[in-house]
Amino acid sequence: MSLPIYLIGARGCGKTTVGKALSQALGYAFNDTDHYLQLTTQRSVAEIVASEGWDSFRARETESLRAVTAPNTVIATGGGMVLAEVNCRFMREHGQVIWLNAPSEVLADRLEHQPEAAQRPTLTGRPIAEEMGDILRERAHLYRQTAHHEVNAMQSPDRVVEHILQSLSLARA
Ligand code: ADP
Ligand code: MG
Repeated sequence: MSLPIYLIGARGCGKTTVGKALSQALGYAFNDTDHYLQLTTQRSVAEIVASEGWDSFRARETESLRAVTAPNTVIATGGGMVLAEVNCRFMREHGQVIWLNAPSEVLADRLEHQPEAAQRPTLTGRPIAEEMGDILRERAHLYRQTAHHEVNAMQSPDRVVEHILQSLSLARA
C-alpha cells in the first residue's frame, strides 16, 4: 500500500491531465475533488458558489478531500484547496503533495483555449491573465509551503509525470 499523491496548483496547471497520466503510470486509481463535488451535489462549482456562497463551497471542498483520500490514489485537488490550513495539514499528513507550478500567463492561455463548456466565468469579470496573476500572488506561498515537491508544469504532461516519479522515487507499474 502506498500513500496517496495530491496534486495542487492553480486552475489550468494540469492537475486533472497530469493526474490521470500519473495514475496510469503507477497503476493507481485517480480522483478529482472538483469532479467528486460535482457528482455528489449534481451541481457545478459555479452553481454551488452561487446558491450557497464561498464558505459553504470551501466546507464541501474539505469534505471532498477527506472522501477521496485512499491509498494508491492520485488526487487532483481544487485550485483553492490550500486556502484552508486544515486542508494543507491533512494533505501533508496523509500523503505526498506535489505543486504543479506554471506562470499566470501560461495558465490563462491554457484556460482561454479550453472548450466553452469547461470554462468558468472569471470571479471578477477582469481579463483571465490578470486574475490568474492575482491568484498566484495570493497563493504561491501556500502551494510552496504545502508541497513536498515542486514540479515545473510548463513541460509536456508526459515529462511532468516523469519528474513527479523521479521526485518521489517511484517506478512505473
Ligand atoms: P487543472 O485540472 O489543473 O485545472 P487541466 O488538467 O484541466 O488543469 O488542464 C487545463 C488545460 O490545460 C487543458 O486544456 C489541458 O489540456 C491543458 N494542459 C494541461 N497540462 C498541460 C501541459 N503540461 N502542457 C500543455 N497543456 C496542458
Ligand atoms: Mg482539474
